[in-house]
Amino acid sequence: MKIIHVSAECYPIAKVGGLADVVGALPKYQNRIGNYATVIMPYYDTAYVEKAMTTIDFCYNLVVDQKTYFAEILSVDDPSLGYPLFLVRIADLTDRKEVYGYEDDPLRFVAFQRVALQWILQKNDLPNVVHCHDHHTGLIPFMMSHCEDFSALKDIPTVLSIHNAQYQGQFSHEMGGILPRFRESDLGLLDWGGMINPLAAAIKCAWRVNTVSPSYMEELMQKANGLEWLLNHESAKCVGILNGIDAETWNPATDTYLHKNYNIRTRQSGRKANKTALCDEFGLDASKPLFGFIGRLVWEKGSDILPAIIDQALQEYDVNVIVLGSGATEVESQLANLAIKYKGSYNAYIGYQERMSHQVYAGVDFLLMPSRVEPCGLNQMYALRYGCMPIVRSTGGLKDTVIDLGEEGGFGICHNDTSVGDVVYSIGRAVTHFKDQKKFKEIQKTMMQIEHSWEKSAQMYVSLYNKLKKEVK
Ligand code: ADP
Repeated sequence: MKIIHVSAECYPIAKVGGLADVVGALPKYQNRIGNYATVIMPYYDTAYVEKAMTTIDFCYNLVVDQKTYFAEILSVDDPSLGYPLFLVRIADLTDRKEVYGYEDDPLRFVAFQRVALQWILQKNDLPNVVHCHDHHTGLIPFMMSHCEDFSALKDIPTVLSIHNAQYQGQFSHEMGGILPRFRESDLGLLDWGGMINPLAAAIKCAWRVNTVSPSYMEELMQKANGLEWLLNHESAKCVGILNGIDAETWNPATDTYLHKNYNIRTRQSGRKANKTALCDEFGLDASKPLFGFIGRLVWEKGSDILPAIIDQALQEYDVNVIVLGSGATEVESQLANLAIKYKGSYNAYIGYQERMSHQVYAGVDFLLMPSRVEPCGLNQMYALRYGCMPIVRSTGGLKDTVIDLGEEGGFGICHNDTSVGDVVYSIGRAVTHFKDQKKFKEIQKTMMQIEHSWEKSAQMYVSLYNKLKKEVK
């Protein structure tokens, strides 16, 4: 099976969130089970790209709205990735420091998708499936099925993975000229709510649509930032497939970011060394239960109530807290200010740091995830693999992966609401469990034994593609 993954992010090339982790691992696991999966993504000015060994695979002059952009597709020579990687470099558009956040993002990503399809078009060997990830690549299924330029690709099945339906990439119809030619009667396929909506267009035009956990698909059918009706209408082609984790990148026994490596057998001494190092770095007390939060400081993650949670928890319990995150400026400054008030009990690193995230999973006793929306959530799976107990709001993928301690076989702490009360109550439960160290360490063993590697889910995607292959005329 020849699979092309098209994505805006891919770890370790460029990462903003979980999307990068998924696209950086899934193709590798698909290749291990006998497929030929490749990744194509934009060329950004990231540290990885700067050092990458590349050769030019294809050049193309893209005309958008009468302006010509010079594009080249670079093939990256890095066998350690586990899949062939191609970078689309479009002068003045993709080659920037950040992945997102520019005013001309619609143009940047439409141009990327158009060049990616031109590259596929000139291949002698066409893929069996084109797998698109999130709205940044959501116009591809439309372009392949309804744009004359790409009519040679119209019988190739497309799959859309929704990693996050909050972001849909809408832009005004006035900008429609950035798209390749299509029949006016097909305009409705692009439209949702009076805008060109790439995520909605992909839900309409992709052969199959999946979310990154089964529960998230159920939730989207009820509430999807305006797309619920559409998803219900297309429900026959929708499915939820739980993400896996890259068990090699995320392995406490070999993780080079850790102060001390450990496995299930050596978890006590290993985790203790990592906790001590983390506490030393952040001026905290390693003898107390340590709670952590890692993530984007956005509404979906419940980060707006994080300052109040920390405030109340530190007044009620003798615990320490650490935060690693960036996002909403107001939350960032509240979290930074709290570090002055609670010096010695709480500290934060405001920013993004891959190394530190690994050290936090290995060093904190509990990971807080009070998410309002969590399509899958990788943090809790990393936490489990590193023997750190997740405290989660039961939603989306968190619901599918964490069983409360009060239930049979339970190993985590679950609460119903994204509220200060629910989270602080859960912290109280955690403190009680922490006191029984013998039992707590047994549960750590259970957590570390849970299998969340990509093997199973990679196979589920391949089965999905195989079904589509049979549908090809
Ligand atoms: P999302 O994609 O919604 O941000 P996920 O749980 O799917 O959430 O994935 C988040 C990924 O981003 C994890 O690998 C997590 O460790 C990482 N991450 C988030 N914020 C930071 C940060 N500030 N520093 C380092 N890693 C981070």
